[in-house]
Amino acid sequence: MAVKNKKNDVDSEDRTLFVRTSDDDIRSWDKMFIVKSLVNEVNMPEADALKVATEVEGFIKYSSLKFVSAPLVREITNTKLLEHGYEGYRKKYTRLGLPLYDMTGLFFNSNKENSNVHHSSEAINLTISGIAKKEYALLNVFSDDIATAYQNGTIHLHDLDYIDRPYCSGNSIEFLKKYGLVMDGRGNLTVAKPAKHADVLILHMTKFAAALQGQFAGAIGWDAVNLFIAPYLKGMDYDRIKQLAQMMIYEFAQQAVSRGGQVTFTDTNYFWEVPKHFADVPAIGPGGKFTGNNYSDYLEEAQMFAKAAFEVYLKGDAYGRPFFFPKPDLHITEKFFKTDENEEFMDLACDVASKMGNTYFIFDRGDDVKISECCRLQFKLNDSDLLDAKSPWKMRYSAMQNITVNLPRAAYCARGDETILFEKIDHAMELAAKAHVQKKDFIRRILALGSASSLPILTMNLDGEPYYRFDKASFLLGMLGLNELVQYVTGEEMHESVGAYKFGLKTIAYMRKRAEELGKKHNIHMPLEQTPAESTAYRMAKLDMEHYPKAAEKVVKGTVGTPYIYYTNSTYFNIGAPMSPMDRVTREGSFHPLIDAGAMTHVWLGESQPEPRSLTNFVMKTFKNTQNTQIAFSPEMTLCKTCHNKMTGLKDKCDRCGDTKVDGITRCS
Ligand SMILES: [Zn+2]
Repeated sequence: MAVKNKKNDVDSEDRTLFVRTSDDDIRSWDKMFIVKSLVNEVNMPEADALKVATEVEGFIKYSSLKFVSAPLVREITNTKLLEHGYEGYRKKYTRLGLPLYDMTGLFFNSNKENSNVHHSSEAINLTISGIAKKEYALLNVFSDDIATAYQNGTIHLHDLDYIDRPYCSGNSIEFLKKYGLVMDGRGNLTVAKPAKHADVLILHMTKFAAALQGQFAGAIGWDAVNLFIAPYLKGMDYDRIKQLAQMMIYEFAQQAVSRGGQVTFTDTNYFWEVPKHFADVPAIGPGGKFTGNNYSDYLEEAQMFAKAAFEVYLKGDAYGRPFFFPKPDLHITEKFFKTDENEEFMDLACDVASKMGNTYFIFDRGDDVKISECCRLQFKLNDSDLLDAKSPWKMRYSAMQNITVNLPRAAYCARGDETILFEKIDHAMELAAKAHVQKKDFIRRILALGSASSLPILTMNLDGEPYYRFDKASFLLGMLGLNELVQYVTGEEMHESVGAYKFGLKTIAYMRKRAEELGKKHNIHMPLEQTPAESTAYRMAKLDMEHYPKAAEKVVKGTVGTPYIYYTNSTYFNIGAPMSPMDRVTREGSFHPLIDAGAMTHVWLGESQPEPRSLTNFVMKTFKNTQNTQIAFSPEMTLCKTCHNKMTGLKDKCDRCGDTKVDGITRCS
């Protein structure tokens, strides 16, 4: 945006001020553009706008500027607005984006923030859009008190860079089987009829998952994958079925071309038995037609697919590395133990857990029915959801947003006083509920545009209601650092005394009760969920060390004085606590019934690679003797980048070729 001006010794054309506008045009200077934009964008009275524009013009014409761009004009206008005390107008007149310096950094430094994102041109696009959307969210979706609570670390609003999408989703292949594949939700792109063959069905699922990834911030989960594929497998031999399972896993694992070059975050739910709620449901088969049988008639095919898939996981990729996606979530119900060959299958799933770490064991006790996805999220189905099981293509669930409460912060603010502590937690939860309502309203406005909206898959209506079932959405409330809250208040960590442990339980029971009350008050379903911590555990610890250093340094984990400080995730016990795995699973598990939308315990295996049978016993004991709702085992392994040798444990160099170019693999939260 070249704006030339001034100097008496140049010709008249050079004395004209030109503005290069944001829409790639060059116009001669006219302060009325500023007036118009102030009136249109921030509703400023025209007379005031004219006064500001005149001052801006004066500043520019008498400065020695050789070039003026529209962004610069806006910056100067904002300065004038501030000078006049028009803070409200200035905020609305803000320009979003990033400094030149940061953009250069994006091109020449790789993004290390999200372990699922690999540096690429697409990843840069993702980062840039994320910055603008996050700024927009904090300025224009959430009220000032929410934005402040986020920025000072009282609460964490997850995935602000995807503010214009719901958080994550649980889906059913039945929808694709019945209605085929409408990739864009509008039918403008090539549309496929319901699949007639298993391989085509799998491709429909992986492609639709990639499309959905563009309309949700987080994970894309698929319910009962092996069962719903089963009608397509009738009459196939095991080798063919294994080929299909392998194809499905590779298609998901290598689909690194979706959003920002990421691998689509996918979950696949497996059942060894035909779960009660699907047993009498009419099965849909090739061409989207009912086969005339119920799902209980496809147990054999469903089991073959499940077995094949876990064998593929056990083998890993071409280099023997684990597949990171799709995650296999294996449901264990009472019926599991009554189904033939359950022990053999459990041994296989445990072998995968021990060597590769893939298997997530989901415990559905009694009449619990759940769909799992994301890091630990579970959609618990209520009675009306179970009616949907009769028409399983309707089983589409979502969480709209995820907000985490910084628990140690509440303890510091209360200075250890119990009554004040619960008031502080309450206050943070009130803010979270309010933020949920604000996001809900924002997404509702977007979805109201129907097929013209930016979420056309979510608004597509093929079965009498939009794909996104707005009324079924959950609003998740997470918690971080319970262990540090307890430690600050009682002087002991949760593993150190019964008193401390019980105080932890009391805190979460209180939060659960309040979440229910606040949900009712704001007309949202707000269950507790363990936070998918990752960066949040570090961010909150860092902010607390800045703002409450004397209190935080007493309980924060990691090395004080370095950037490597964090809080213990959600309701976990200290990961270094001297507890046996069964003790950890039991005691952490006693929190799980309070956390309706998903909790889990990680059992670190380190270098050990236990026999599958001992893990099988462990899993069965966990199901029968504890209240734990989900466990996963985390083995550590190291891969040589040079010769692709795979070693157990974390190693500094390859034990085969001696090279030090190695990657350590362990789960991070
Ligand atoms: Zn090597």
